[in-house]
Amino acid sequence: MLATRIRTACRKMLPLILSLPPFHICAVSAQSPPIIDLHFHFANGWDMDAFTRHMDSLGIAQAGNAARGAPDSLALEWAERYPGRIIPFAGKEAIRGFIRSDGERAWTLQAPAVIAYLRQLEDALKAGQFKGIGEINIYPGPRFPADSPLMQRLWSLSAAYRVPLSIHMDARDEPVAEMERLLASDRRGTLIWAHAGGAGPAPVRRLMQAHPNLYADLSGRLPALMRIREWKVLLEEFPDRFVIGSDVPTLAEFVDTIRSWRKVLDQLPPATARKLGHENAERLLNPGH
Ligand SMILES: [Zn+2]
Repeated sequence: MLATRIRTACRKMLPLILSLPPFHICAVSAQSPPIIDLHFHFANGWDMDAFTRHMDSLGIAQAGNAARGAPDSLALEWAERYPGRIIPFAGKEAIRGFIRSDGERAWTLQAPAVIAYLRQLEDALKAGQFKGIGEINIYPGPRFPADSPLMQRLWSLSAAYRVPLSIHMDARDEPVAEMERLLASDRRGTLIWAHAGGAGPAPVRRLMQAHPNLYADLSGRLPALMRIREWKVLLEEFPDRFVIGSDVPTLAEFVDTIRSWRKVLDQLPPATARKLGHENAERLLNPGH
């Protein structure tokens, strides 16, 4: 379905495509599957018409996560304006704001504003407005436990409404132990570990083996993926558990990043490239389909 959507977009653009170098040709080949970018932050000031044009020419079916430096509503606004292309997540800036202003009272669920926000978030999830929760910043930043009452509440929302919870958490012993407790507490929840926590292939392998509900987005990991053979071995071992992300602040960097992703995908067996490119993200975003 995604491939068809992109092919249709490409046909409309044929006169333009003919004038571009071969890389831009977006008739997606078996080697170059459509991409779903699950780590793209919305921000005020992006030229979204230009962005969606680039999505078409780069073969990107969908992109999203939460707004950066803006309320959840911005992601919803964009999702409405570009139906089927923008994936709205909720919670990134709101939760970060509560942790900053209320500290421990926020992550122990003693601050009334947090309780009110979580109620509002649940209503929005119930209404199907958001496709995910996150990216929640756990470590670094104002650090708070990955299995705190606040995270357990978000985890229960992930399980109940079948939406992934994306977290940014560097792979240090203590936060990893907390994350493992959260993962084990309810296997119906799904966790996307942003940037695979910056960890190397060996610890990621151990965690993937131990936790079937752990996924990782590979934003920020392109240099390692291109250089380290063991990463590609790991992707082959767990082809269903990784998704692609860009996580860059400008349109120019976005275009470069997606081009680099194409290079990585083209080096993988076609079935694995399709899974990483879009199939895993589709499954996470539409569980049960
Ligand atoms: Zn991010």
